Amino acid sequence: MSNNQYEFSESFARQMDVQDTLSGFRDRFYFPQINGKEAIYFCGNSLGLQPKTVATYINKELDNWAKLGVDGHFYGEDAWYHVRKKSKPALSAIVGAHEHEVVAMNNLTSNLHFLMVSFYCPDQTRYKIITEAGAFPSDMYMLETQVKFHGLDPEKCIVELSPRAGEYTLRTEDILMAIEANKENLALVMMAGLQYYTGQVFDMKAITAAAHQVGARAGFDLAHAVGNAKLELHDWGVDFATWCSYKYLNSGPGNISGIFVHERHAENQELPRFAGWWGHDEGERFRMEKGFKPMYGADGWQLANSNVLALAAHQASLDIFEEAGMDRLRAKSELLTGYLEFLIEKISGDSGVLEIITPKIPNERGCQLSLLIHKGGKSVFDEFYKHGVVGDWRNPNVIRLAPTPLYNSFIDIYQFAKILEQSLQKFA
Ligand SMILES: *Cc1c(COP(=O)(O)O)cnc(C)c1O
Repeated sequence: MSNNQYEFSESFARQMDVQDTLSGFRDRFYFPQINGKEAIYFCGNSLGLQPKTVATYINKELDNWAKLGVDGHFYGEDAWYHVRKKSKPALSAIVGAHEHEVVAMNNLTSNLHFLMVSFYCPDQTRYKIITEAGAFPSDMYMLETQVKFHGLDPEKCIVELSPRAGEYTLRTEDILMAIEANKENLALVMMAGLQYYTGQVFDMKAITAAAHQVGARAGFDLAHAVGNAKLELHDWGVDFATWCSYKYLNSGPGNISGIFVHERHAENQELPRFAGWWGHDEGERFRMEKGFKPMYGADGWQLANSNVLALAAHQASLDIFEEAGMDRLRAKSELLTGYLEFLIEKISGDSGVLEIITPKIPNERGCQLSLLIHKGGKSVFDEFYKHGVVGDWRNPNVIRLAPTPLYNSFIDIYQFAKILEQSLQKFA
């Protein structure tokens, strides 16, 4: 749909909801209340809403534990010993991978560290890492301390790419040029897949190809991309990736992360690893013998016993994703975010209060729009919240709004637009 087909009217928004084949999914989630009213929830980029089925999934495992005790590890088709397999079909579809290339485990930052141990192996010639300037703090700390762990200097090893003067997002051509310019010493490109602050989706395919071209590897932090942007990790040839499940994957606060390791590394014995027994050959695990023998594929990076209760909540959400399908979700997401963009531009016009800094091209963004606030600062955000809009404020001066295709509606967007219209009178 092009911009001139959108309308700022309640009847238009209602009509869009009627035509939306995913509209029924909204009822499968709990919505928080603000001032006694259901929130206009645009914060799935930070914490996705709770699927109503979560308690049932967790209770089932609590029952198994109560009834079976330790035998739950091996009893029946839900045996905890094999629980990691359940999430693979949905996860591999969401990130565009083979099932043996993904596994749910640990937390995001922990996984970044473990994957860096395997894929950042600096030597005399190749030691540089290219990343985006202003990356998420956990990623910055991770890179800094990984470099130091190898006895190297972060100042010399980490190359941060910034947008051109007067621009807010990185141009792909500039990323590719930086890869070329550092080709002699480049070990790794390690960036976000979708930048948390600007909402920009990087061209992971082109970046990976360019990194490989110069003999480096490419890894991505998909915290904001997973369950949101279109991903084809296998076909793009990405070496490794990791994500969290509590943002767009709606699996609950702090819940389990997942990793992707490309098939080409599935049996690579040369890669260094920090191993644990859960990554060891499953058939021999309980022999309790010396000598680490990794499982094939991503499973070989597991360290510890699967977190059964966390996986239960995760599965409740993944089952919904499987039913909805990423293609349908992505198609709706483009319309929903396009509508939000249309209304914001129409209403804020040249008020000078705010400006959208997220790319305009659908392939270069997910569902999130980042509003750079020029007048009124955080009070603009507080005003939204007072009227029931849950987005988030990110220092120094951005409001992120992320309408998700699973549980947001076109009427949500329309209602927000009315609130924006009122609020702007205060700040313009
Ligand atoms: C949300 C987010 C994190 C958070 O990491 P945790 O280990 O899950 O606390 C890290 N990196 C990025 C890019 C994020 O968006």
